[in-house]
Amino acid sequence: MRYFDLHVHTVFSDGKNTPEEMVNAAIDRGMDAIGFSDHSYTSFDGTYCIKKEAIPAYIAEIGRLREKYADRIRVLCGIEQDYYSDYPPDEFDYRIGSLHYVKAGDAMLSVDHSEEGMIDHVSRYFGGSYIDFAVSYFGTVAGVAEVTGADIIGHFDLVSKFNEGGRLFDEGDPRYREAWKAAVDRIMRTCRVFEINTGAMKRCGRSTPYPSPEIREYIREKGGRFILSSDAHSTDSLGFAFERVRDRTVARRFEFRR
Ligand SMILES: [Zn+2]
Ligand SMILES: [Zn+2]
Repeated sequence: MRYFDLHVHTVFSDGKNTPEEMVNAAIDRGMDAIGFSDHSYTSFDGTYCIKKEAIPAYIAEIGRLREKYADRIRVLCGIEQDYYSDYPPDEFDYRIGSLHYVKAGDAMLSVDHSEEGMIDHVSRYFGGSYIDFAVSYFGTVAGVAEVTGADIIGHFDLVSKFNEGGRLFDEGDPRYREAWKAAVDRIMRTCRVFEINTGAMKRCGRSTPYPSPEIREYIREKGGRFILSSDAHSTDSLGFAFERVRDRTVARRFEFRR
């Protein structure tokens, strides 16, 4: 089985390490390939994304590493293209299409910045209804493949980030299910590859990756495919929990087939 990680951040956006440090960590782990996917430029929120003027340097640096390490690892230059990004994703090797905001009137509410932030958004803009917030999130995610030209769908149910054990809302709620199913159905017309993203298992103690097992099963039934990715923001999270998640996914498939 080939071992690669295509969802990787660096100091060009909100990662802690340089691209070269990440390449060396990937080589140390025995990876066949590493793909960079720093956050696309969004003009309304500069806190986490790549600076517009740094994009040529990002592409040049990844190109330099591709040459330098060509005999040891394959290096790709992608982008994690946010739905609301205002910079075109055409010049990259591939695109991970992601949504990080819910729009409420003129406000752009971050979905994944912090649990306190999300609780505050839901109470201020959605009358305390997490389901309404999630329905709005999935309503936009439905268009993420069309808008970003995604080759891979990023953290499909990011809206559940702080909902470990169902502590904020019930993911079995019929409206929640209806919303994600509609989003999967529309995305699949344009893009069939979803990532199984272990990032929040590393960074905020979630026990499962995105998407949830129920959503994965639905995507699989509809003919979708998966790749494992870590959403790494530092060398120590590269390829995080891949073995465990792969074993579990394979086990589930085996049960399912029997
Ligand atoms: Zn993301
Ligand atoms: Zn990411």
